[in-house]
This record gives sequence, structure tokens and C-alpha cells, in this order.
Amino acid sequence: MAGLRAEEFVWPKGEVLTYVFLKDGKWGTSDKEQMKQVEKAMNEWKTRTGMDLDFQPIGDQEDSLLRIGFCRTDGSWSYVGTENRKVSKSMPTMNFGWDLTTRSGYGTALHELGHALGLFHAHQNPRGGIKWNEAAVYEDLGNPPNNWDKETTYNNIIHKNPPGYYYGDDWNPKSIMEYAFDPTLISAPSPYDECGIDEPLQLDQGDIEVIKKLYGDKASHATSTLHHDRWVRLDADLRQQDFVLEPGPSGLYTIETSGNADTHLDLYVQFPGLPHKPQLHVARDEDTGESRNARITINMLRPLTYLLKVRSVWQACSGESTVRFRWAGATKEGPGRGRGHRGTHRPYHYFPF
Ligand SMILES: [Zn+2]
Repeated sequence: MAGLRAEEFVWPKGEVLTYVFLKDGKWGTSDKEQMKQVEKAMNEWKTRTGMDLDFQPIGDQEDSLLRIGFCRTDGSWSYVGTENRKVSKSMPTMNFGWDLTTRSGYGTALHELGHALGLFHAHQNPRGGIKWNEAAVYEDLGNPPNNWDKETTYNNIIHKNPPGYYYGDDWNPKSIMEYAFDPTLISAPSPYDECGIDEPLQLDQGDIEVIKKLYGDKASHATSTLHHDRWVRLDADLRQQDFVLEPGPSGLYTIETSGNADTHLDLYVQFPGLPHKPQLHVARDEDTGESRNARITINMLRPLTYLLKVRSVWQACSGESTVRFRWAGATKEGPGRGRGHRGTHRPYHYFPF
């Protein structure tokens, strides 16, 4: 299960999730009531969890992290957490396939936003999760209104995710990330094999707690300066640390960690003069579950300043881990053309419901 820890889907704290409602073409709508429901659900996640993440509307599809569609023939779905960054800017990252102004529809808005925050389906939790009457499940979801093929049903219902995808939590049948199921589909545990599972319509306390665990504690990531070519020790309490980086001459720099640890590095260019777009994410690397260290090599331009978010997700008990940024040489490319970073290239996780 190496590399399958879910922390790789978790946003850095302080991330501004910019969004746009798609208005044109197949994915678009002009129905303001639908948009209002999505914004109400965003506000509910924010105010009830106190999370150190924000949603910010932005008119420009190219600059938006979340691109929200309303195509009535494509079901309701969302990419999970940081996977949203990998989606082509011409495509939505989330879609609502039905009316959101009903009580059930509002639950869908909360559910899809839960995916965008990094949450997975409750019924795919392997810890204390559901045992299925598999034949009945395939038949039920193969019929209208879903008409799912076997593979889709397997991926969204039967398949159990790695336990790490649930951030240490057991199965929560009341989670907004649960589906409604008829008791005939469930063989265990009791009482769900007799009562089934009701459609969740609101955030459960367990949903609020997991988001607090991932994004709570706003005071935890103070910003300090990371000076050139100096190793700085990372917090042993696995908290996020933010650093300002000021490159000397423009050119290629390497940002890297050392030690036996799993770390996320996220690098942003800062635009203090642009209040609607204060930071632009330019590179990420993480070494979750791998034996190497996280490392970004990128062309940095003077006089821009950069913000580095370092989130330790695991450290060996005896070890210590550090981070450094250092000049790596003059770039052979023209200014403004980054070399990109050595990221991990895993398949996208796509949840069609
Ligand atoms: Zn879902």
C-alpha cells in the first residue's frame, strides 16, 4: 500500500480554493438558485468547521481551482482534494446533475464539496465498513436511474479504499459522504442489513471533526524566512510550516527535504499587489510512502518572492527532518520558463458520484 496514504489529497492549510460557476456550453447554467445552494454549502463547511481553507469566487476559468458545472446528463461528482489541480483548465472539476434547491439536493452540494476538501465515500471505508450482497448491488446500480456498468459499481461501492483515506476514522454511516442503501444490498453489520442506510442530508459531527483534524488550528503555520542554503529543522509535531523565499539571481533553484520523513512541499509565487489572486501555486512534490525525499527544482525569478508550505505528514520516531533551498545553477531556458518539478505521476482519482 506504499504511496496510498490519503494525505496526498489534503490541501495545504491556508489554501484559497478559488472557484467559478460554468455559465456556457454543455456544463453551464444561468440558474442563480443552483449557484446559491453551492455557496450556502461552502459557507456551512467553513463556519461549522472553522477550517483554515477559504472559498473565493473568481470570474476567470483559467485561474479557478474549482470549476463547477451543472450538466443535467452527467450525474453529480467531484475530484478529490489536491487532484483538482491536475484537471485540464478547460474541464469542470465538479458537476451537479440535478436540482440542488431540494433538501436532498442541498445534501448533494455538501457531499461534492466534501470530496473537494479531500473526503472519500464513507461506505468505502475498510474499517468497520459494510459487507455487501454483491450480486444485488450490481443488479441494483445496473438498473435505472444509475445504469452503471460493473466496473463503475465496483469502483464506487464495492471497492474498499486504503484505511489511510479516512485519516484514522472508522466507518461513519451518518457521514454526508455516505450514500443511501436499501437493506437488501447489505449483508452486515447489524442493524443496516435490516434497516438500510438513510440518505444523509446534513453534515454529521464526524464530518466536522475530520475537517477540523485536517485543516483546523489556524495559528499553527506561522511564516518565517527560509534563507538560502541553510537547512532548517522541521517541526516534530507534524504541523505545517510556511516559509518566504527570496531568490538571489534569477535561475534554477532546488528545494528539498532531508531525513526519514514524508513531507508535502507546495510552492507559490506571491503577488501582493493583486488582492484577488495573492498567490499562484507553481509546484508541488510529496514523498508520501516513498523512500526518497521531497524535492522541487524550479526556475525562480528575481525580484519575485515565493511562499513555501511544508507539511510533514510522517516522521520516523528517532529521526529529524529538515528543508533547504539552494541555487542549482543558471537556467538554460529563457526567463519565465520553469523547468517544472519532479512530481509523482499517479493516475487521477475520479469519483463519478
Ligand atoms: Zn461522492
